[in-house]
Amino acid sequence: MITSKPVCVTGASGFIAAHIVRELLSEGYSVRGTVRKSSKNYPFLLGLPGAAERLELVEADLLDEGAYDKAVAGCEAVMHTASPYVINVKNPQTDLVDPAVNGTETVLESCMKSGSVKRVIFTSSIAAITDEPDSMKVFTEKDWNTMSSLDRNPYHYSKTLAERAAWDFIMRKRPIFDLVAINPFMVIGPSLGPSLNTTNQIIRDIMTGLYPGVMDINWGFVDVRDVAKAHLLAMQTESASGRYLCSGDAMHMREVVALLKSSGFDTYSLPKVDLSGKVGTLLMKLLSFTQPKDTGTYIRTNIGQTMRYDNSKIKRELGISFIPAKKSIIDAVKDMVKWGHLPPKKNNK
Ligand code: NDP
Repeated sequence: MITSKPVCVTGASGFIAAHIVRELLSEGYSVRGTVRKSSKNYPFLLGLPGAAERLELVEADLLDEGAYDKAVAGCEAVMHTASPYVINVKNPQTDLVDPAVNGTETVLESCMKSGSVKRVIFTSSIAAITDEPDSMKVFTEKDWNTMSSLDRNPYHYSKTLAERAAWDFIMRKRPIFDLVAINPFMVIGPSLGPSLNTTNQIIRDIMTGLYPGVMDINWGFVDVRDVAKAHLLAMQTESASGRYLCSGDAMHMREVVALLKSSGFDTYSLPKVDLSGKVGTLLMKLLSFTQPKDTGTYIRTNIGQTMRYDNSKIKRELGISFIPAKKSIIDAVKDMVKWGHLPPKKNNK
């Protein structure tokens, strides 16, 4: 579906959404982005090429009923990315689940009211597929996370419930629009705005001595520029349907550390001790109890197993080819230095 109407992007100020906005503008689309506080101005969005002519920002909060009516009015395509992406919160129900789930329903209600929306592209997550690797299994779009709860990986829980709510909405209300879900793994890469995204922060934490050693953990990485492209392709490809697991290469923490060392970042406080064996994993599991609650749970449910997944559907149906994870990691690091999230290379000690 190619549209001449404005494309609505919820949470336009976010790490992923800003790249979607840039990509849409660069392909000639008009964009209506929602932000929580339009008074903030968002120079990194309003300064994008084409923004002066084709970007409009409107205020909307996921917790306000009817908040997205104005934002989606007259649009044919809506990209719903807004959702809190925070790991340690005080109240998982009100801080994560309510905005994720009620917000999704609110956005979909507004789309239904509009009478113009034909497709909603929903930014889901690997978190809705699983919150725990299983060395014996290759995860696909058929898998659903059934293990998270308010006590166990609540961010994953919020994404699972939100995606379920979206599919349930389509089943119950049979709107005139269809739904396509994009399920990215760890999204990294350069940021258009000054905020430090939760996933780039993991790379920063590896470089600033936060980890006592190299853990037995691997992640699937996907470049933020590819995630933006995936959203556009999901809109433009008429036959796109269902969920799309969106991730390029998986890398072990050991490989990430080796890459940073060999790329000239060896003067940073990279973990030196290898804790990726059985004893190290046991030690890390014990140490995880000294971490903030949700970080601790994440460590315990994710170390000591190898995460494997099948990304063939998105490549085959949307024609995506992924930027190599090594390039995305180095680009993310250089970008964090640029924004001051990491000290410059030479005097970082
Ligand atoms: P960001 O934190 O950068 O963006 C989140 C966006 O949601 C921000 O624009 C934020 O607004 C908005 N938001 C949060 N709460 C509300 C609310 N109550 N009302 C309105 N807007 C709200 O995260 P990402 O860009 O990384 O994440 C975007 C989406 O992608 C999320 O749905 C996330 O779950 C998903 N995702 C992210 C992955 C990653 O690795 N980064 C991986 C897989 C999925 P504000 O700027 O005002 O805070």
